[in-house]
Amino acid sequence: MNIVITGGAGFIGSHLCERLLADGHRVICVDNLLTGSMENIRAFIKNKKFELKMHDVSKHFSIEGDVDCVLHFASPASPVDYLDFPIQTLKVGSLGTHNALGLAKHKKARFLLASTSEVYGDPLVHPQNEEYWGNVNPIGPRGVYDEAKRFAESITLAYHRVHGVDTKIVRIFNTYGPRMRRNDGRAIPNFISQAMRSQPLTVYGNGLQTRSFCYIDDLVEGIIRLMNSKLNVPVNIGNPNEMTLLTLAKEIISLAGSSSKIVYEPLPVDDPKQRQPDISRAKKELKWQPTVILKQGLKKTIGWFR
Ligand code: NAD
Ligand code: UDP
Repeated sequence: MNIVITGGAGFIGSHLCERLLADGHRVICVDNLLTGSMENIRAFIKNKKFELKMHDVSKHFSIEGDVDCVLHFASPASPVDYLDFPIQTLKVGSLGTHNALGLAKHKKARFLLASTSEVYGDPLVHPQNEEYWGNVNPIGPRGVYDEAKRFAESITLAYHRVHGVDTKIVRIFNTYGPRMRRNDGRAIPNFISQAMRSQPLTVYGNGLQTRSFCYIDDLVEGIIRLMNSKLNVPVNIGNPNEMTLLTLAKEIISLAGSSSKIVYEPLPVDDPKQRQPDISRAKKELKWQPTVILKQGLKKTIGWFR
């Protein structure tokens, strides 16, 4: 297939490009390197089946020739990044999604949106299943990301209902692995960088808030299965192994063989207190479930950071 992937030079996007190339597809990556990097795509930039188009997808773009699939992954994703780029985040979630959908409609291509567990906000239902509508503060600092993604889901389903585009929505829960930016501000890159430098690990709040972390290879497998499925409803992809941030910090100190201590810093505004995906739909419809346990995934990630 000819596959267009926006945000293909980012953390998740680059792993997807790599997998799709390995599966024999032609991949056109559209990225403006706002939070991604050439380093992420270095391993396959010379592959004849790979093409990089440097472009801001919030502005109209077109692609020559046939396109079978459009995967829309462009968007800042770390809370630090989307607080640094609030307007770009809103634009890429709204205008960027509109442009990517327009491309899919024009080319009669399948479309897959990278949505997020943040559509559930600070959830009042636990674990979160796809029927839950969420608890989002539209005017809080995280609202720029959450509401952009909620709009992106709405317009995606509108293109499905009105124009008949074969659309998919993946709600991605916290994912980690090689190629995350050392300074992207998310918990795992922060903790690993701090542990490796023997600096204190910065736990926000009392560290009792929870997350459930999925290794990148598991996520990519889930996305490919969704892309090849007939499903048009949103699907949670994540690892239900829920833990507190304090437990995560201690695990990273131990696995990195570090002597770092833990320091407590203020909890960011609207930081969700708990998060765990209900993956019944992915299990039933995609026959997917994660296979990489945290210790294994963290070891690989620490190895890559080293
Ligand atoms: P990332 O920041 O590493 O990658 C995002 C990519 O999009 C970067 O290469 C960036 O340069 C590009 N980009 C941003 N704005 C753009 C624009 N206007 N035009 C073209 N390119 C643009 O982040 P990631 O972790 O790889 O996330 C990828 C996608 O997955 C995002 O849509 C994010 O919302 C979603 N997601 C990620 C996670 C996670 O845990 N990593 C969780 C939920 C959802
Ligand atoms: N966090 C932390 N220390 C850090 C970075 C993040 O304690 O150095 C916490 C953050 O407050 C949140 C959790 O880790 O409760 C996950 O944060 P991340 O930015 O990785 O992703 P989020 O799930 O908030 O989008």
